[in-house]
Amino acid sequence: MTRGIKQYRMYIDGEFVDAVSGETMSSVCPADGEIIATFPKGGQADVDKAVRAAKEAFENTNWGNTHASDNRGDLLRKIAFGIREQIDELAELEVLDSGKTITDVSLVDVHYAADCFEYYANLANQIYGEVIPVPGDVLDIAVREPLGVCAAIVAWNYPIMFAAWKIAPCLAAGNTIVYKPSSETSLSALALAKIIDEAGAPKGVVNIVTGPGGVIGKALCEHPDIEKVSFTGSTEVGRQVMQMAASTMKKLTMELGGKSPNIIFDDFTNQEAAVGAALLGLYFNAGQTCVAGSRLYVHENIYDNFKKELVRRVGLIPVGHGMDWDSRMGAIINESQMRSILDLIETGKKEGAKLLIGGNRLMEGGHAKGFFIEPTVFECDHDDYTIVKKEIFGPVLCLMKFKDEQEVIKRANNTIYGLASAVWTNDIKRAFRVSKALKAGQVWINQYLVLSNFAPHGGYKQSGFGKDLSKYAMDNYTQIKNIYIELCSDDSYISTFE
Ligand code: NAD
Repeated sequence: MTRGIKQYRMYIDGEFVDAVSGETMSSVCPADGEIIATFPKGGQADVDKAVRAAKEAFENTNWGNTHASDNRGDLLRKIAFGIREQIDELAELEVLDSGKTITDVSLVDVHYAADCFEYYANLANQIYGEVIPVPGDVLDIAVREPLGVCAAIVAWNYPIMFAAWKIAPCLAAGNTIVYKPSSETSLSALALAKIIDEAGAPKGVVNIVTGPGGVIGKALCEHPDIEKVSFTGSTEVGRQVMQMAASTMKKLTMELGGKSPNIIFDDFTNQEAAVGAALLGLYFNAGQTCVAGSRLYVHENIYDNFKKELVRRVGLIPVGHGMDWDSRMGAIINESQMRSILDLIETGKKEGAKLLIGGNRLMEGGHAKGFFIEPTVFECDHDDYTIVKKEIFGPVLCLMKFKDEQEVIKRANNTIYGLASAVWTNDIKRAFRVSKALKAGQVWINQYLVLSNFAPHGGYKQSGFGKDLSKYAMDNYTQIKNIYIELCSDDSYISTFE
């Protein structure tokens, strides 16, 4: 299939513009290697323009004012409406740009993005302060105020959802934003910019700058006029972001990597459901999900049957071009990520983990031009294999056996990460006990991978800090000012200097 190559532009100060340098980058479809579009390769000068516009919009308009909260809510509602009107176009663009499947993108990602804008539309006028009971004849109030210009830098794996997760709460709280999508998947953010523009966003309130992370990301992290960076990406780059942001003492939200445990106890009787959720938890988005349940711990009493059923069902997963509605698993984002996954599979084999199924690049027929890897399962007799410790970010599941509760809690927590986890049990006391003991920002009980715009998402330990989504994200985009009002009568002022 030959498609035309579309040309996208960045969105700065209410205009669609090329990079100051005039340079462009290409977007390649991971499923067939075709160039589908070009977009601007921005640099420091483009970041400076975008930050100037965002600062001007914050300082010289009414945008951040409490009384403008209804306008902000209205804008976010219109953006949600605009996304819903273009679900099919946005979904197709995302699939071609990212290699994801059309089923996942159109039934999940784009809907969630629209719902997210709507959720925060309803929070824009719900930003409350507090009266503090300071002793004396005093009225002391804590008020929440916007931060100013915020930046967001995101990963490539859920592009339109991340745009919503960052832009919606940031605007609801009255800030302005410079948003940097991943250079692997920039197109849906640029398509969203059109929707934001048509919804009537004031000039400079939203700016979308595209280009290499090492250049744009660095320029944003070090810019003196940016108050906050919300980062979603690897723990490794997250560390660099923190160092760069330190020079100007920026506030940070860090949504980083994971190696999440999924624990199945023998008292959970619906094993078919647990196997299904284990598949969803790992192979959704070809394993390129931060909360992927990549360490699967199964109790020894049910292990053999569970393993048999798991491997049987993994063998049935249809892997193919994302635009094919029958594909349940799409392509890996690019060649270098595919090579890194295949290298880790080789490491697993060399270190002695037992390959139960998969492990190869798919090269036949419709897979020939793309970056496809077979859904893979390793059986691991201990937790010291590299593949058990390292985030693979691909369709590689590590299956492990455990004997008892204390042992599995210890093993589940034995990681630098703490993003997500799951416990499958019919025993309510055990469910609560284990969920309290797990050091992760998310615990699912008898479920996997369900995220809601209403509930907080974010990690413990080296998976980061601060929350995306829910009312908690609003905390990250506001700061608290204390106002102390002296109420005593004029003749009762006391000065300690007299
Ligand atoms: P990455 O860290 O390579 O890149 C993330 C973003 O940072 C991209 O926009 C990139 O262009 C930019 N960047 C790259 N170098 C930079 C630099 N030196 N300075 C500033 N910015 C820079 O991550 P990725 O490969 O895009 O995504 C995969 C990773 O993201 C995985 O580790 C995954 O677990 C994590 N992730 C976390 C969450 C979460 O919510 N916790 C969600 C999705 C992905």
